[in-house]
Order: sequence, then structure tokens, then C-alpha cells
Amino acid sequence: MHSRSKIFIIISAYIAAFFTVLSIALRIPSYTTVIMISFAAVAAISAVILISVLLNYKREKVIRDRENISKIMHNINAMAILWDADFKYIEVNSELTKTIGYTSEDLYNMRNLEKVLPPDAFAPSLQAIVNNRDEEFNVTAKGGAKVCTVWNTSIISVNTFKKHKSYLMLSIGHDLSETVKMKEDLIQYSKNLAESEKRYMFSMELSEIGLLLKESGASNYHISEQLQKMLGINSEMVSPGVFRARFHPEDVMIYDALEGTMTNTRSGDHTIHSTEFRMLAADNTYHWYQFRYKVNPGKNRVIADIGGAVLDITKDKEKDILIEKMAYIDDVTQIYNRNKFMQIGQETFECYQEANQTYWVIVLDIDNFHIINDTCGYLNGNKLLNEFGKIIKDLLSGGGFGARIGGDNFAILVHDNGDESLPVTLIKKIQNKLQTVSNEFLMNQSVTCSAGYCKMSDGGDNFAAILDHAEFSLSMSDGTKGDIIRFDNKVHEKILAGNALESELAHALENGELVLYYQPKINLTDGTLIGMEALIRWIKPNGTIIPPNQFIPVAENSLLITDISKFVLHEACRQNKKWQDMGFPPITVSINLTAVDFYQTDVKEVIQGALAETGLDPQWLDVELTESLALKDIDHAVQQMKEIKELGVKLSMDDFGTGYSSLSYIQVLPITLLKLDRSFIMYLEEDEISREIVSAVIRIAKSKKIETIAEGIETVGQAEILKESGCDHAQGYFFGRPMPADKFEEFMAMKCGMNVNA
Ligand code: C2E
Ligand code: MG
Ligand code: MG
Repeated sequence: MHSRSKIFIIISAYIAAFFTVLSIALRIPSYTTVIMISFAAVAAISAVILISVLLNYKREKVIRDRENISKIMHNINAMAILWDADFKYIEVNSELTKTIGYTSEDLYNMRNLEKVLPPDAFAPSLQAIVNNRDEEFNVTAKGGAKVCTVWNTSIISVNTFKKHKSYLMLSIGHDLSETVKMKEDLIQYSKNLAESEKRYMFSMELSEIGLLLKESGASNYHISEQLQKMLGINSEMVSPGVFRARFHPEDVMIYDALEGTMTNTRSGDHTIHSTEFRMLAADNTYHWYQFRYKVNPGKNRVIADIGGAVLDITKDKEKDILIEKMAYIDDVTQIYNRNKFMQIGQETFECYQEANQTYWVIVLDIDNFHIINDTCGYLNGNKLLNEFGKIIKDLLSGGGFGARIGGDNFAILVHDNGDESLPVTLIKKIQNKLQTVSNEFLMNQSVTCSAGYCKMSDGGDNFAAILDHAEFSLSMSDGTKGDIIRFDNKVHEKILAGNALESELAHALENGELVLYYQPKINLTDGTLIGMEALIRWIKPNGTIIPPNQFIPVAENSLLITDISKFVLHEACRQNKKWQDMGFPPITVSINLTAVDFYQTDVKEVIQGALAETGLDPQWLDVELTESLALKDIDHAVQQMKEIKELGVKLSMDDFGTGYSSLSYIQVLPITLLKLDRSFIMYLEEDEISREIVSAVIRIAKSKKIETIAEGIETVGQAEILKESGCDHAQGYFFGRPMPADKFEEFMAMKCGMNVNA
């Protein structure tokens, strides 16, 4: 019973006793005593009732408290254990059972709980437990796995009962596994980072990697200490001007493109770009550097940060240069060749697309070069080309890229500095220097060059298309008097007209509008007919005859040429076989093939097919090729020619003397016949030099066991000179014009005294 209620009962008993004694002593009538005793009894009963109500309330409160604690325990996001004062486990929450894998029923068995908690998990002294904050220890889950946890224990209620205090304690624990793992990872990461940073710094020093950065909006470059050492610059910040001045003159254009990218790029794609260039190094010589950089997109369309690593690649580059020299340097002029020009051009085009930097593309052609070559000799021709190369190199020392892209064709790529007259100024400088140079060693012969040019931003999907525009403009000049023609709308219209012609031509081939004419080839010694050249004509439905010079170049550009050539080959073989079958003495038919046929198709197979289908014996077919064809890829050309020759087909070199290399090629090409170009023959009667050239060529050819034929003979005088010079055969209007098959049949009949109509 509660102490206060005991007191109450005792007091009530005392009062009752007091009144009883008092009533006896004062001789109070007994009814009064009864009342007093009753009063005392009522007081005592009330006290008992009050005490039991109080006790009940307290018990209920303890239950309610426990329920509340239990509710809280199960709702908190942590492990929880409720203990009584003796550390007897009362309740665990679901978070704990989930973590350790035991059910709460399992844990009522104290032995299981002992397996889970380490023996010293909670200190025996209550005060120590409560004081010991953040106890960290491993609990053992059901499978034996250790889970790192941290615990805090608090006394949450104290009840005093029979002088005995009873405590309730709540231990809240957190699973530290994740945190511990993160901590370990972090330690490992920072260890790795420190190591890789050490390695990075070490390798940076060893491999001489410098860093270059242009921050968004900054006008100067930031260069690392290593790069300062590499370049011999004593400052962390370098202005673009200083940087540009250190670039090799031939690579200034690369710098300009880079600077354009660095200054104007607003977006980046996180790809690593790479470019190579020469720059003055600390030892005051040019070193090769590779700049590997990244464009970090600027926020809110602000200019991007650009930066990357600069590596000294001089040693590797020296090896590359040797290889490159073989692949990309032109032998005659020692400047770059067409392949390199295309490569650099395409790279520049890509830069142009990324940053708003544009370039001029200029192509130049030495006017009447073949005449110079023929009249002044092959060595002087080469010297002129070499001088031209030097002129271009000198001119571009301030920036730009030049190459020899074909026989007497050169090309230039220069950065557009905003001056629209720049290309014309450059071309005129070249023309003036060319005059001076040629006057010096070509017996005061005046040499000019024509040029076509275009701006990269004036259209074209790739660099090849842009170069085509410049070359097309050049082809509009008549190639004699130093024309300078810019690619503009008019030129563009002509290209479009070419395209229209192209589709018209494709129809013409399908509709049978292409026909073959035949021109006789005569033996100069006895005047007999030894062969014929098949020359194509386009006869439109309205009867207009279009000469091949007007459509063959279009066909070559569109690759339609391979279909046309197949048609010519097949038709020429068929017609020749037909005439042989008709009883005419067998003669050779010559057909013309272009470089496109030679490089894009398996010519040998096509020829073999045509011969097989028509039944013509290979010895009666002759294939005419031009020098320029062989120039493109001499090894491939020789290989293809050998294969054709193995079939038993003859091979002739057409238009001999119009190219620049002339006789040197006779040595390597497996040809059986050399066709002297009309330009040699034209002035034969009045020009002694022409006569000398022709007889020298004939002599050399003979020494190589190669037959000669002259084309474009129009007069008896020309025929006689050629005969005297030892030329074997002849072709020209003097002997017969190109004629349709029926007329040629009559010509043949007349020649051999056959009556075809009989
Ligand atoms: P080519 O192969 O050098 O043919 C000779 C050209 O000279 C022919 O012009 C012929 O008509 C012309 N000719 C011949 N004798 C004389 C002459 O005494 N005086 C003058 N002024 N010209 C003469 P054509 O037929 O107009 O052909 C021009 C060029 O077109 C040919 O030059 C050839 O390169 C090309 N060609 C002709 N037919 C074909 C063909 O079927 N396929 C290919 N790929 N090209 C062809
Ligand atoms: Mg020909
Ligand atoms: Mg010819």
C-alpha cells in the first residue's frame, strides 16, 4: 500500500482511538462515541479508495508510456532496443531485426541476443552506459556477418516501487556499414589521387607535357611552367601576338584557325581535338608540337574555355617527315603534292566549319606549258616548275599553304583576312615573279599563268567541292594570257549547265544518240590503211552533232564515262569484227580510254568481256591512253597496262607531248605506239625547232622499239617531213576525216579496191 494512504489510515485510527479515549474520560454518552468512531471509519475507507484509484492511474500511465515508447521505437529510422533496469531486454524494433536477421521472438531468448551483441556492448553500470555516448561496435547478424554500428542509450523513465526504482532504457543504434565503406573508399581514393597526381607530375616532367589554356573571355593564354620551359618563355600569361610570332611560317595558318576556335567557339562537345604544328622552342629552333585540346562549353552561350596538353613530338615527327616526304612531297618542286593539299584542305575546311574562319583557295596553271616544255626542253620545263614552287613558297612565308596539284597546276590555301582583293594581289605577285624568273633562263620567253579562285565560305560541302569550284573557274580561262577568274554565280551557272548536260547525256546514251565515227590511220611508207580510230559523236534527235570535247569532260566528272567507254569498246569491237567478217583486210581499231576508266574499273576484265562477246581477236584492238592518266599513279597504271597487254591488245600513248613529263614515261610504260600530238605537227613546215623535236622523239622511240604515229596531219608537206623523219604511221584530215561507219566502209572499200555493194 502507498505510504501516504498508510499514514492516512494510521491518522484515522488514531483519531478514532483519541475520540474513544476522550469520550470514556469525559464520560460522553456512548452514542456520541459511536458517531465519532463511524466518522473515523469513513475517513479510513475514503483513504483506501483514494489510494487504489491513484495506484490504478499510475499503472495505466506506465502501460500507456510503454505503448508510446514502443510506437516511437518502431517508427524511427534506426535500430532500437528497450531494456529494463537489469538490462533485460524488453523489446526490439523491426529495423534491428531487419539488420541482424533474427526475429524479435528469436531475441526473447537471451542467448541469441548475446550472440548478436558483443559481451561488453553495454557497460554494466547504468551511469556509465548513459554517459557513454556514441558506443561503436560490431553486431553479428544471423549468418555471422559483422555489421558496424553506433549506439546511444538513454534512461527514458524511472518508477519507484516499494522503495525500489525501476528504469526503462532505450538504446538507439545506427548501421555504419555504408559510412564505413564510404570512409574507406575516400581514404583509398585520396591515396590513389595523391599517387596519380604524383605520377602525373612525374610523367609531365619526363614527357615534357605543357599545358595551354584560354579561359572564357580572356585575351591571353595561360601557359604552364613546363610549357614555359619548353618554349623558353618567362611568363605565365602570353598574348596571341607573341604566340603567333613563334609559329613556323608554314603553320601560321594552323595557328590562325586555332585562335579562331579559341576565341569564337561557344559550344563544346567534350571531344578531344588534336593538331600539329611547328613552333620556336627554347633552343631557338623549330620543334614539332602536338596540341591535344578540349572545348568546354561556355555557360549561357558564353565563349567556351579551351585548353589542353602540348607535347613535343619532334623526334617522332622527324621519322614521319621522312615517310611524309616520300608520300607528300613533289619530286620536281620539293613542295607538297595534291594528296597533301587535299588533306590539309579538308582539315582547314573542318576548322572553318567549327569556327567562323574562312579561306581562299587559288589554283594556278602555267599557260602553254607544253609548248615551253617542247620548245625549251624537258629539263628547262622541270626547272620552270621548280621555280614556280619556290615563288609560291616565298610568297606564303607569312602564312598559307601551297602545293603542286598536277602537271603544271599549283594550288594555294590562304586565310581570309577580310581583304577581298587578297587573292588577286597574290596571283599578280606570282605572275610578276614568274615573268622575271622565266626571262632569266628561258631566253627571254615570257611565261604567264592563269588562275581560278574561290572563297571557302562561298559554298561546297567539303574541301574537294571547293577545290573543284576554283579549278572550274580556272578552266573558264583560255589558258593563254594570265586570266584571273573568281568562282561566282556565272561560273556556278555553268556548273549547273554542266549538270543539266550530264543528265541529258545519260538519256542520250540510253536513247542511242551516241555513235562512233572512224578516222583512218595510214602507213606512211606505203600509204596502206592500217587502222582506224573510233571517235565518239553525240547526234541529237534534231541532227546537231556535238563533238566529244564538249561532253567527255562532263562525263568524266560524273563517272558516266565508264558506261560511255563500255559502249565505245563494245561497239568498236563489234564493228571491226563485222567488217572483217565482210571480207575486209583486218585492221586495228583504236579506242580512247580516260583516267577514270583506268582507276575506277577493272579495265582488263571489261576489255576481255567485249572481245569475248564480239569475237574480235585481241590483236585488232588498240587502246589509246594519255600521259596524264599515267601521271596520277604510275605503279597502278603500269600494272593495269601490263595486264591489258598480256591479253594481246595493243597500247598507244595518245597526245604525246602535251603533258610535261614527256619522254621519261616511255621508259616505264609498256606501250607499243607513240602518238605525236597535233601541236607538234601544226608548225612542222615553218618551224625548225618543231622539226627537230619531232625527229628526236621519233629516234628515241625507235631506239626503244616503239612505233610512232603522227596525228593532225593536214598537208602533204607535213606528211613528207614526217615520212623523212622516220615516222611510221599518220592520221589526219589529209588522209581522211572522222566519218560514220557507212562512209568509212566506202573509204575502206575504195582503199583496198573492194566493191562493198557487190
Ligand atoms: P584524240 O584522241 O586525240 O583524237 C583526235 C582528235 O583530233 C579528234 O577530234 C579528231 O577529229 C581530231 N583530228 C584528227 N585529224 C585532225 C586534223 O588533221 N586536224 C584537226 N584539226 N583535228 C584532227 P575529236 O573527234 O573531236 O576528238 C577529240 C578528243 O575527244 C579526242 O582526242 C579524244 O581525246 C576525245 N574522244 C573522242 N572520242 C572519244 C571516246 O570515244 N572516248 C573518250 N574517252 N574520248 C574520246
Ligand atoms: Mg585518241
Ligand atoms: Mg590525240
